[in-house]
Amino acid sequence: MPALPELVRTAAELRARLLSWRSEGGILGFVPTMGALHEGHLSLVRRARAECRCVVVSLFVNPAQFGPGEDFARYPRTLEEDLELCGDGADLVFAPLPAEVYPEPQTVWIEPGPEGEALCGRFRPGHFRGVLTVVAKLFHLVGPDLAYFGEKDWQQAVLVRRMARQLRLPVEVRTCPTVREADGLAMSSRNRYLSPQDRRGALGLIRGLRAAQALAAAGEGGAGRLRDALSAEIMKAPEAKVDYIEIVDPETLAAVAHVGASGALAAAAVRFGRTRLIDNLLLQVGP
Ligand code: AMP
Repeated sequence: MPALPELVRTAAELRARLLSWRSEGGILGFVPTMGALHEGHLSLVRRARAECRCVVVSLFVNPAQFGPGEDFARYPRTLEEDLELCGDGADLVFAPLPAEVYPEPQTVWIEPGPEGEALCGRFRPGHFRGVLTVVAKLFHLVGPDLAYFGEKDWQQAVLVRRMARQLRLPVEVRTCPTVREADGLAMSSRNRYLSPQDRRGALGLIRGLRAAQALAAAGEGGAGRLRDALSAEIMKAPEAKVDYIEIVDPETLAAVAHVGASGALAAAAVRFGRTRLIDNLLLQVGP
């Protein structure tokens, strides 16, 4: 059985432990998560393990990124399993209590700007402000050289990279491909809440994204047609409630009419009951 990583619960403990790691030199890698770990998270941990001497994983369900009526209270919390899953991939697991991250009511925020208003930002007001603020705090507490994010949350990765650049944070943001179940569903801590019927319906997301990708590869560059191909698959599940289905510029996240030379991002957010799923794929025109 792999050794459990060291668990630290306070910022002071974290600082003390990292001081001794740092004195030995080498690259410090950081994987921020909300826990309930799955293979998607673990792919980030493995990449960090391969590229860094010390790997810190954080487990923190950040209240500030959940809106009223969202699933903060029922978000899965599985600390014991998470520690085991981190196994020999992480050196340190930082699982702070909320008061460590929010020592007083938060009045100072990092605002995400226009890219934060696109896609999920339209349906989750305040979400990315909460994400950027907590990521900035965690970057500050951990002080990583490299930080790892998943492409599944493409908009989040774009915003975090932008924040790091604009605030001159001394961290390089690296992104890793979306890890999927055998049938293509993007892994998510929220998948466990899908009923068997919704789980089947949720496959419309990846089927639609792949249909759009294939159409683009076959030469279709018109965003309208690509969007229709994506939408047709999602709509096969009558219980799917669409937040958005869009073809956007991968960097600005603004809707495009045509797929440009640098490609476009097909992205969708769909709700099944109280469970909201997101997924995306990059599209390129031509082979
Ligand atoms: P979360 O715990 O959902 O906030 O996710 C923590 C990190 O894991 C984020 O950078 C996510 O983008 C990444 N992540 C979540 N699911 C996946 C997945 N299926 N494949 C790759 N990365 C993922």
